Amino acid sequence: MFIDESYINTLIEQAKSATDEQINEILDKAERFEGLSHKEVASLLHVTDPKLLNRIYTIAGKIKEHIYGNRIVMFAPLYVSDYCVNNCKYCGYKHDNEFCRRKLTMAEVEREVRILEQMGHKRLAVEAGEDPVNCPIEYILDVLKTIYNTKFENGEIRRCNVNIAATTVENYKKLKEVGIGTYILFQETYHKETYEKVHPVGPKHNYEYHTTAFDRAQQGGIDDVGGGVLFGLYDWKFEVMGLMLHNEHLEKEYGVGFHTISVPRLCKTEGMDMSEYPYIPTDDEFKRLVAIIRIAVPFTGMIISTRESLEMRKTLLNMGISQISGGSNVEVGGYGEHTTQPQFKVTDERSAIEIVKWLMDMDFVPSFCTACYRKGRTGDRFMSIAKSGNIKNVCLPNGLMTLCEYATDYGDNELKQKVERIVKENLPKIKDEEVRREVEKNIISITKEGKRDLYL
Ligand code: SAM
Repeated sequence: MFIDESYINTLIEQAKSATDEQINEILDKAERFEGLSHKEVASLLHVTDPKLLNRIYTIAGKIKEHIYGNRIVMFAPLYVSDYCVNNCKYCGYKHDNEFCRRKLTMAEVEREVRILEQMGHKRLAVEAGEDPVNCPIEYILDVLKTIYNTKFENGEIRRCNVNIAATTVENYKKLKEVGIGTYILFQETYHKETYEKVHPVGPKHNYEYHTTAFDRAQQGGIDDVGGGVLFGLYDWKFEVMGLMLHNEHLEKEYGVGFHTISVPRLCKTEGMDMSEYPYIPTDDEFKRLVAIIRIAVPFTGMIISTRESLEMRKTLLNMGISQISGGSNVEVGGYGEHTTQPQFKVTDERSAIEIVKWLMDMDFVPSFCTACYRKGRTGDRFMSIAKSGNIKNVCLPNGLMTLCEYATDYGDNELKQKVERIVKENLPKIKDEEVRREVEKNIISITKEGKRDLYL
């Protein structure tokens, strides 16, 4: 197993003696966009000196700008089934919580997708509890086919990421065949004893099986995998080390690490007492850990959800976050009606369009791009483009084109004006003249001639 608890604890302990000089050397390396080894990351975990912390934050912002530019990818979750055989102590869907459980029929999936399409979304994360009887892989495959086939007016979902429980190589192959984007699975915690305590029963209790899920996903042909930790279950320093070791393991075995890392932080939900979770990172610690992950794995996308407040999301956008959800509902069927039970309490409750406007007011380019996996830029192919510094030359053009599509189909006047400004300010940033001309031409095709889904 690539997670060795005593090794992690020793590294964290030893790293306490790192001098300012050593920290600055590590940060010099990070500033050259070289990424960091897990040992170097350990040294940064203890930094509290404001000057050094500011340097970490500044580098995190620089890395984000250098690699991804100012585009922020938008997505929304779609909860399809809340049946669950596990009893994860922190989760609203846990088996012991009594409420009227349900899974969407295909007609209901279609209804939810139409609503999401009318919000302008092109990229979804499909979410489900674990229940092999009520929610088998065949059900998830049907859901995915229904989503991809639901095209309402100009709307369509072009990329479905999937966040379902750890499964077999065979099932991952089936997910790959149906055309998923990233397979996302949060480790919850890398600390085995805590893991077993908070997942007391059910298949999720098995730490080894859960922790090796991405190996099976890779063996099943899925080369974009998205990791994450549910921050608050155990010491965040340990968890960051776990993420780093997991990433290094994937790089070593499959030539590519995490495509994305999500940083969910524990929220209040039904049947759970927040006072039982002493490890929830404070806002300052949370900011620190996001920035450290950013500079450690510069080519990995970072995702923040509506679990966090507007203020926290704003802070983190400037230090490395490259994808955010918007207008989210975390109830099964919740986009169409008020339903049963959310998985947890959402903090940022603004609509998708409000978030898009807000992003532009901060000079970001909200992007509905889904080009990479449809162009075969996945796994190590994506990473090599990212590492050559070229990804932003693709991301910005695609971001601008999809933003224009969004404005034309779903924008009000205020939004359209903001988009005009963003396009005007960002077009000159496309350095390749040929690409810039193509984007200009495509934007006219989209806004004046009704063309859709143009991408590089
Ligand atoms: N059932 C799948 C699994 O076992 O991985 C999918 C998980 S669930 C739909 C998505 C994620 O929500 C979980 O992996 C967990 O990290 C997160 N989550 C659950 N309860 C939460 C809470 N109270 N606060 C914040 N995030 C929570």
